[in-house]
Amino acid sequence: MITRFDKLAIDLPHPRHTSPNDASAVQELIGGKFGEMSTWMNYSFQSFNFRGRAALRPFYDLVASIAAEEFGHVELVSYTVNLLLTGTSERNPDPTTTPLSATTNSRISYYYLATGQQTLPIDSQGTPWTGANVFSSGNLRLDMLHNFFLECGARANKIRVYETVDDPTARACVGYLLVRGGVHIVAYAKALEKLTGIEVGKLLPIPDISNDRFPEAAEHESRGLHQVLFQFSTEDYTRINEIWNGRHPSDNSELRVQEGMPEGFPPPDLEPEPQLTAPIGPDLDPSVDPDMFDDVAKRLFGREALDLRERMKARKK
Ligand code: MN
Ligand code: MN
Repeated sequence: MITRFDKLAIDLPHPRHTSPNDASAVQELIGGKFGEMSTWMNYSFQSFNFRGRAALRPFYDLVASIAAEEFGHVELVSYTVNLLLTGTSERNPDPTTTPLSATTNSRISYYYLATGQQTLPIDSQGTPWTGANVFSSGNLRLDMLHNFFLECGARANKIRVYETVDDPTARACVGYLLVRGGVHIVAYAKALEKLTGIEVGKLLPIPDISNDRFPEAAEHESRGLHQVLFQFSTEDYTRINEIWNGRHPSDNSELRVQEGMPEGFPPPDLEPEPQLTAPIGPDLDPSVDPDMFDDVAKRLFGREALDLRERMKARKK
């Protein structure tokens, strides 16, 4: 089971220049073949499917704890895309002015036609993410080899998105993910080393560009974030320390396991987009006309809902 915290892994800055096509480049990191949906679902299903757990507990703990971290990565990239989309159509509630006309050149039209300028589990071309991206062979060495490859492919995509988009929101997100993805590459390399005796770490980094060349990643590494694997639990998955130990292959620093999860920061509030009635249309804005809002709520939810609201208001006082 999962406990959820209303926090993001980093303090995500607001964009300097919003852009739907920048958002769609970042979108590859959510629903692309090598995106966060894929890492999250691959490790989740591999953990649900794990056979022989008693004998191989450290490997089970590894894949289960990283799965939990990947959920938060999907969330972080989603906020990045949503911030890059905020304000990209005209905030004019009059439909006759064609407030969405500026969006017809957006690579992904779902942002305006299917959502309220928000993300979906799709890739940079708008193709839905699919469970066909999940590999769970049941063979531990094969699954670890796949995961190592998946993280290396994910790293290549992150670097290319960084090279595509210069907005500070995107770069803060990608910089953080490069560091955490680097941790996962090394973790799966170490798992393969324990299983086979082969020094997989000697292959790294793949692709062979160090994180030092990405200032937003280097900043996290200067504080040692690349040395830490999170348990993502206070009680469970403790045996990841039997895999995550020794030295980091890039700077020879000492690796350590941290109980729980990263500290986290409040997620940014996403501004309303009234032309898309997201979250409600201008004619339902409660700050404009509270009586009208109550009237609509009564029609939608019945008298009981309004009574409950009144009781809750009274309790607050
Ligand atoms: Mn990730
Ligand atoms: Mn990862």
